[in-house]
Order: sequence, then structure tokens, then C-alpha cells
Amino acid sequence: MYVRKTQRRNKDGSVVRYVQLATNRRVGGTTQADVLLNLGREDKLDLDSLRRLVASLNRYLGDTDVDVAELLAVERAAADRARRALETAERERRRPACRRCSAPFSDERWEEKERGWNDDGLCAGCRQADADQKAREEAERERAAVEAAEAEAKRSRPWWRRT
Ligand SMILES: [Zn+2]
Repeated sequence: MYVRKTQRRNKDGSVVRYVQLATNRRVGGTTQADVLLNLGREDKLDLDSLRRLVASLNRYLGDTDVDVAELLAVERAAADRARRALETAERERRRPACRRCSAPFSDERWEEKERGWNDDGLCAGCRQADADQKAREEAERERAAVEAAEAEAKRSRPWWRRT
């Protein structure tokens, strides 16, 4: 059995194609096509019903049903997505937050905390703010020390050299 295509030319020159299910039969010395089923005009074929017929034949033959395989793949992909979403949500619930401003830790900061030594429990932003504050205080102390040294140098100079 095979799918056979025939065509008919209209008077206006246009061509109409037909699709048939046929089988070959030997008649004398020649081969003749026996049409088993006319499927109709090619441009008006019901492709979905043909696909259902193929699936039905596959099921009958015990071959993997393409539709079922596709369905299973789609279901598996959906299940994978759901599992990943759940894992992500689970992970987010465990995400630590800054002990000062309560901002959730970045992945980088979280990993650092997991490694765990000498952790201050602060987010990167609060850490930076602390570092900036420390730098300002340090600069202020240096400035005060320089000023004190200058004042001391002024005091220890002889009176005629004081300005
Ligand atoms: Zn913070």
C-alpha cells in the first residue's frame, strides 16, 4: 500500500491534484494501481484525520506512538520546570539577611557566609558603609595628628621665629 497522487488538468489550464491510498497489482505483464481509498483533493486534505490514522496504525503495530512520546516529553519538561521552581523557592527561604538592614544577601555574600569564617552578618552594602565610615574617621585622625604636630612645632620654635 502506498499514497498515490493523481492530477487532472482543467479546461482553464489549472491543475487539481488528488490523493489516494493504492496498491499495485500485476495484470499480465504490467503493473496496475488499484485505488483502495480516495482521500480527495490534495488542497482539501484533512491532515489531522490522516495523522490520527497513522497514530492508530502505529498503535496497532506496537510502535511507539509519536503523540504519546511527545506528550510524555512535554509533561516531563513541565515537571522539570516545577521542580526547579520549587528548589529555587526552597533555596530563597534559606537565604540569609543582613543583621543590620535586613536586606537579603547576594549569592556572592551568601556563599561567603557559608564558608563561614569571621562573618560579621552584614550585607555588602552595610559592610561598604562601615568601611567608608572607618576611612573617614581614619582621615580625620590623621588630619588632627598633623595639626597637633604643626601646633607643637610652632610652640617649640624660638619666639623670634614664631609667625
Ligand atoms: Zn545591610
